[in-house]
Amino acid sequence: MNRPVEIIGGGLAGLSLGLALRRAAVPVTLFEAGAYPRHRVCGEFITGLSATTIERLGLAPFLADATPHREVAWFLRDQPLRRQTLASPALALSRHALDQRLADAFTAVGGDLRTQIRIDPSDAPDGRIFATGRRPARPEWIGLKCHAFHLPLNAELELHLGDHAYVGLCAVEDGRINVSGLFRQRADLRELTRETALVSYLRAVGLDALADRLSTAKIDPASFSAIAGLGFSKPSTRTDRIVLGDTYAMIPPFTGHGMAMAFQSAEQALDPLLAWSRGEASWESTLRTVQQRLRTLFRLRLASAAALHPFLFKPARQRWLATASRLRLLPMKPLYKITH
Ligand SMILES: Cc1cc2nc3c(=O)[nH]c(=O)nc-3n(C[C@H](O)[C@H](O)[C@H](O)COP(=O)(O)OP(=O)(O)OC[C@H]3O[C@@H](n4cnc5c(N)ncnc54)[C@H](O)[C@@H]3O)c2cc1C
Repeated sequence: MNRPVEIIGGGLAGLSLGLALRRAAVPVTLFEAGAYPRHRVCGEFITGLSATTIERLGLAPFLADATPHREVAWFLRDQPLRRQTLASPALALSRHALDQRLADAFTAVGGDLRTQIRIDPSDAPDGRIFATGRRPARPEWIGLKCHAFHLPLNAELELHLGDHAYVGLCAVEDGRINVSGLFRQRADLRELTRETALVSYLRAVGLDALADRLSTAKIDPASFSAIAGLGFSKPSTRTDRIVLGDTYAMIPPFTGHGMAMAFQSAEQALDPLLAWSRGEASWESTLRTVQQRLRTLFRLRLASAAALHPFLFKPARQRWLATASRLRLLPMKPLYKITH
């Protein structure tokens, strides 16, 4: 009889791990504070997800209709900056669809999914995994997103740099354009509603042309989403529990790599947890193995993305970035490689 696993948090890390464990006949209960389907603040394009991870976690059916995007256009305060071709395509699919598909698949293979239950995270008994998303941080940044229809794009992926902000646009399924941005929180914009926040923030950070485009587009009102209290802390060093996905570390969103890391962290935890479930390893050694694997796999990309983040965010460094880019001094391929 396999030992049961309990997962707290039904985002991409928790659901993909739960699904893979269930497929190996491990009893899994997954607690999720929210419900499905739901819109999430996310750029909704996945970069750097390898064929091995897709295969190991059995993700192919869920990503089969994801739109592949290769062409990226960068803008600085509405002015074109440069165009880039990604080494391998980013996969675009809404979280509304992706999370729901994974949740359905998890229950279809006998997973016990309990939604709208928030578990007190202070308790960490053996067999409990924490995939609860970003750790609480100083409320420095705010993430905002919506889905627009009939919004013509200048490239498959648009990335706009504003004053202490960046915003991504890409087509997902059903004619939807995801518009999603990370902004430094502003005291003068505290009273906004979810519906007005994105356009107001776009104007406040100098992205007026983008705000105008969005103002004339049709928006799915249910898709307006916001999250505050965002920060990019160092990787978790907790030794008393297994933490995956954003709970381990949140990579800056400009990389489009957070979702791939959530899946990869589930992949790294899978074999050690299977061994523990079969009684072949102690919980302490399982914990140490998973931590070591995550540290080894993610250390370099987290450090390099954190070092690059201010160049996309801070006006003086954005100007430096723009000059280097115009002079063709930016080694785009190595920079992509080191952050993925
Ligand atoms: C503005 C912005 C843009 C982004 N753009 C991209 C992008 O384009 N591409 C990309 O790859 N990544 C992007 N990301 C990052 C990506 O969204 C995350 O890395 C990814 O969602 C992490 O998945 P996760 O499973 O770790 O966490 P989440 O998806 O956050 O899931 C955590 C889950 O845990 C649940 N939960 C939390 N606490 C509890 C509790 N106590 N009990 C029960 N349930 C709980 C939550 O309800 C949630 O469903 C972006 C992030 C931001 C902020």
